[in-house]
Amino acid sequence: MNPLPVACAVPDEGPLSQRRFDEPAHPYRTPFARDRARVIHSRAFRRLAGKTQVFTERYSDHFRSRLTHTMEVAQIARSIAVALGLNQDLTETLALVHDIGHPPFGHAGERALDEAMRQYGLRFDHNLHALRIVDHFEMRYLKFRGVNLTLGVREGIIKHSRDYTPADHPELDEFFLDLRPPLEAQIIDLADEIAYLTADLDDGMEAGILSLSQVRDGVDLFERYYAPLEHEFPDAQAKLKFNEALRRMLNALVTDLIDQTAARTHEHRLTSLNQIRHWPERTCGFSPGMEALRMATKRFLYQNLYLGEELASAHREASDVIHRLFSWWMEDASRLPAGYAAQVGESGAARVVADYIAGMTDAYILQLDHELTGQSHRNPGPVTG
Ligand code: MG
Repeated sequence: MNPLPVACAVPDEGPLSQRRFDEPAHPYRTPFARDRARVIHSRAFRRLAGKTQVFTERYSDHFRSRLTHTMEVAQIARSIAVALGLNQDLTETLALVHDIGHPPFGHAGERALDEAMRQYGLRFDHNLHALRIVDHFEMRYLKFRGVNLTLGVREGIIKHSRDYTPADHPELDEFFLDLRPPLEAQIIDLADEIAYLTADLDDGMEAGILSLSQVRDGVDLFERYYAPLEHEFPDAQAKLKFNEALRRMLNALVTDLIDQTAARTHEHRLTSLNQIRHWPERTCGFSPGMEALRMATKRFLYQNLYLGEELASAHREASDVIHRLFSWWMEDASRLPAGYAAQVGESGAARVVADYIAGMTDAYILQLDHELTGQSHRNPGPVTG
C-alpha cells in the first residue's frame, strides 16, 4: 500500500505546531519530537508504571501496567503512521500521552471517581484530565505552568477517542470541535484497541481467568490463526501456539487498518489534512469484516474478563477506596496537602480532590487509605507516591 498524499499528514510547521506560550524553534528537533520528550519526562508519565491496566491484583510481575500498555500502543501507532506516511513524531507523542489522565485502578477507578464527582454536579473524564495535567499540573518551567505542548498534541489529547460537542464543552473551543481530528490522532484510539484486545487475551490466559478452549471458541479472529497451527505444529507447546496466533491476530488487525484507511482516503479522494478534517466521518478504520471480528473480540473480553466474576471483587475494592477517600477529603478539605488545599478557593473542593486522587498510583492510594481511614489491604505492593 502506498503512503497517503503528503498533504494528509500534519506538517511540522503551521498552526498545529504552535504552543500556548511562544518558544523559539529548536535547531534540530521537530515541535512534536520535543513534545514527545516533554511527555516522557513528565511525572504523570512515570506514574503510569504504578497504575492498573486491567488487573488490580498483580497475578504476576509480567502483566501489563498502564505504562507498558502505553508503550505497546506507541509501537503499534508508529508502525501505522510509518506505513501511511503520517507525522511519526506527532503520532508517537499522542500514543505516549493517551492514558496519562487515568486515575488509579483502571476503568473501575475512573468510574468511581466520576460517580463521586456527580454528587457535586461535576464529571471526571480522563481525556479532559489529561489536558489539565499537561496544561497546569506538570511544573518544569520557570515562565509558565504546564509543559506548553503544541496545539496538535493538545487537540489529539482531547479528540483521539471521542468527540465533544461545542454546546457541552465551550471551554474546548480552540480544538476545532466541529471538525474531525487529523489521522495521527484518529489512529490512536484504534491502536489502543488493537493493543489491549490482544494483550488482555494474553494476560487473561496467564491469570488463569481465560482458558485456551474458551478463547478458541469465543474469539473467531484468534481461532482463524490458531487452528492452522494445531495442524502444522501438533507437538508444539500450547502456550507457544497461543503466542504465535495472538501475534498473527495483532498483525492482521494492524494490516487491515492500514489498508482500509488508505483505501478510504483514495476512494473519497481525500488529499489534504483539510479534507480529512471536513469529511463527515473519521477516515481511519477497519474493513467491515475486520470490524465485526474486532467487535466480537471486545464483547468476549467484556463478558469473560472485564465484567467477569474474577475481577469483580477487585473492582468493588477499587470503588470503595476511591469513594471512601473522596468523602474523607470532602468532609474537610483542609485535610488535603497544602498545595492542593490552596487551590480549593479557585477550583472548588470536589475538582481539587479528584485531581489529587487521579494522580495517585494504585499502591499510593492503598497506603493513604490505610493511613488515613484505617482500612487494611492485603498487599499494597511497593509504594511510589
Ligand atoms: Mg489505552
